[in-house]
Amino acid sequence: MKAVILSKPGGPENLVYADTAVPALSSQDVLVRVKACAINHLDIWIRNGLPAYKTVFPHILGSDIAGVVESSGQDVQGFPPGTAVIVSPSWGCFKCSFCLSGKDNQCADFRIVGASLNLDGGYAEYVRVPIQHLLKAPRNLSFEESASFPLTFLTAWHMVISRGKLQPGQTILVIGGSSGIGSAAIQISRLAGARVIATVGSPEKFEKAKKMGADFVLNHETEPVHAKVKELTHGEGVDLVFEHIGPKTWKESIASLKKGGKLVICGSTTGPATELDLRFVFSRHLSILGSSLGTRAELMTLISLMEEKKLRPVVDRTFPLKEAGKAHELLESRKLFGKLVLIP
Ligand SMILES: [Zn+2]
Repeated sequence: MKAVILSKPGGPENLVYADTAVPALSSQDVLVRVKACAINHLDIWIRNGLPAYKTVFPHILGSDIAGVVESSGQDVQGFPPGTAVIVSPSWGCFKCSFCLSGKDNQCADFRIVGASLNLDGGYAEYVRVPIQHLLKAPRNLSFEESASFPLTFLTAWHMVISRGKLQPGQTILVIGGSSGIGSAAIQISRLAGARVIATVGSPEKFEKAKKMGADFVLNHETEPVHAKVKELTHGEGVDLVFEHIGPKTWKESIASLKKGGKLVICGSTTGPATELDLRFVFSRHLSILGSSLGTRAELMTLISLMEEKKLRPVVDRTFPLKEAGKAHELLESRKLFGKLVLIP
């Protein structure tokens, strides 16, 4: 099969379109013919050699996969060839105490397809998926759309609903509202009945963030975010801040919280460390919540909401698989709105 092989960490030029063997199946595996695979910032971190995921090279990236069942191992039932499927990006063991209590994104042996140790992903014509990580795709979505929601919407849902517990009538500040995860957070927050203030990094993204459902949009490059937030909330601040940018926006994010407010964070694209005025945290009764991906049950909820058209994935554009490097360059430039999708 054709695949994009990352033989060693480095720049986009290390993503090489080449021939490789079709993955072998065990009795509980399904061979999925990839129809679409969305790109995430996670792919860039792994391409750059971030050690946290213990990736073994050569490696095939790609955690957001939609496709059809090609063939199955002998113990697989209910997924005949031709079934349209998505792959759950987060792979718990479904045996440990975290998994058995429904917290499979905290699994003791947690892995991400296309990221962790020996788990090749969807930058390929075929991918091997153990049956417990396969779900039927939402009936009304194209393959490009189906590939564009699992990782971003799952992460955003876990942050806003499960960790942040956003309530109707509350106000959320979504930092980086034009990213894949940010646009998911805007939609989910609106669905939860909250008022949404979103920030974007350039003026041409204002209208798009509004279209997603943001009530107010600020430019975090040029505007004093916390001062504007205070204006929009009668001097109070917001109930919840949605963070994934980190050092660049952190100070403004913390200052935008109301008394007793919560900040939930799932990533830090501008660096690993920042400063925090601890006096501000305790005197204002703040909560800082970490969050990573989401559970299989949450992904099932999202599939239903996609089918009911209460949420919709946002595809910026597609690229042929062999142009994966070009797509990575575009993602790094941040000149996009929504997901970039590779088509084998
Ligand atoms: Zn587990």
